[in-house]
Amino acid sequence: MQSETPRSVIAPTEDVVVIGGGVIGVCCAAALARAGRSVLLLEQSNLCAGSSWGNAGLLTTSACAPEAGPGVMRQAMRWMLDRDSPFTIRVRASRDQITWIRRFRSYCNSVAANRAMELLRDLVRQNIRLVVQQAGMTDDFSLKQDGLIVLYESQNGLVEGMRGASQLSSIGIPSRQLSREELTQFEPRSSAALAGALFFPEDAHLDPGKYVRAIADMAVRNGARVREDVTVTRLHGSHRIERVETDRGSISPGLVVLANGAWASSLLRGVVQRVLVEPGKGYSLTYDAGSEVFARPLRLFELRTVVSSMSTKIRVTTKMDLVGLDTRVREKRILGAAARAQRYVDLPGGIGEAHRWAGLRPLTPDGLPLIGFPAHVDNLILATGHGHLGISLGAVTGEAVAQLAGGRSTTTAPDDLTPFSPQRFENS
Ligand SMILES: Cc1cc2nc3c(=O)[nH]c(=O)nc-3n(C[C@H](O)[C@H](O)[C@H](O)COP(=O)(O)OP(=O)(O)OC[C@H]3O[C@@H](n4cnc5c(N)ncnc54)[C@H](O)[C@@H]3O)c2cc1C
Repeated sequence: MQSETPRSVIAPTEDVVVIGGGVIGVCCAAALARAGRSVLLLEQSNLCAGSSWGNAGLLTTSACAPEAGPGVMRQAMRWMLDRDSPFTIRVRASRDQITWIRRFRSYCNSVAANRAMELLRDLVRQNIRLVVQQAGMTDDFSLKQDGLIVLYESQNGLVEGMRGASQLSSIGIPSRQLSREELTQFEPRSSAALAGALFFPEDAHLDPGKYVRAIADMAVRNGARVREDVTVTRLHGSHRIERVETDRGSISPGLVVLANGAWASSLLRGVVQRVLVEPGKGYSLTYDAGSEVFARPLRLFELRTVVSSMSTKIRVTTKMDLVGLDTRVREKRILGAAARAQRYVDLPGGIGEAHRWAGLRPLTPDGLPLIGFPAHVDNLILATGHGHLGISLGAVTGEAVAQLAGGRSTTTAPDDLTPFSPQRFENS
């Protein structure tokens, strides 16, 4: 992909400015350019420098339950007492964080969780259809549609997992329990000591770094321009964004699409009353395993860890740390999880040399993305808050944003975007 030279002068006016070069930004740019808009995408670092690189690459209906659910607050309290647990929180003296936690708590019930699950199920399915089409039109991004296996170390874990699977099945998401023999056939390197396993045939996966590059290339082929190394420092205007200020000059935009993931709230201060996006840090280890990769992604249930393979590489992703906009890798947390992963599956050697990475999931309190216009700002569309599902929702978000920008409906975007409106949190 050819990006313009970073030092070239920024034009004073633009039709559409997309802020953020992660999966959501490039998908929006590609869909808007295809719809005939003139698009400039600005990325403060390199494309895919944020959460969209080192994630597990799953397109997953099996994980369409939101973070907020019945019993989650109690579980989180228990986890906070255990240093090795999948979750930590650093409480900041921030009104936004307090409001986020209060709203999150209000969604910790089965009615809210079921509603979110159904909405996310439909979006992920629509997204998988779009990604399959994209795979036929662009560079290879290692898309595989072979399902996903969840491994349970303990009997209690298996019972909890079966309960979750039965909730998913009640909204039409299929799964089945694997016998010991079937599991050995599906994944010969799984531990013989496991309590059980479930198979989710609908899940797919891809290489997220390759995917973002391929869609950025597609956007450029459709006429979009991509500028890396340009930081948007401020948005000016109240009922309309009159000026996008960057470290390379200012732009007067026709339309702004904000797709800067976990950084959304900081840029919207003074423009939108309240945007509840909280960074949820996760980590990964990626290493070359040659031909010893796994056929399917494996979710290690009790560890809240995923092991996925991308061509000759293995990636172990783990943890949810609510520690603000902090992307430092904490070696102990990540290596501890990788060591415990060996209790589920025999990981090939080489993990000591693995590339260590951290990324920030943009989390909303209800687990639904923010896609739409905020109240009282005519030319700003938010496309953020995709939480643990940004790869699973990128393409469909791009279509939705192109539809909103064009003011007409299409068959590739969701019928009703009301549940994803950013206005639902503005008066929190
Ligand atoms: C460990 C882990 C595992 C995950 N696994 C999966 C998975 O298997 N499946 C799935 O669907 N999702 C997964 N996710 C979630 C997924 O990675 C995110 O939802 C997704 O990457 C969010 O994409 P984004 O484009 O919104 O944000 P990002 O990828 O973070 O992109 C935002 C971009 O905006 C740029 N930016 C920020 N501020 C500015 C500014 N002021 N000016 C210009 N540019 C700016 C940043 O540099 C960044 O490149 C996982 C996340 C983690 C952390």
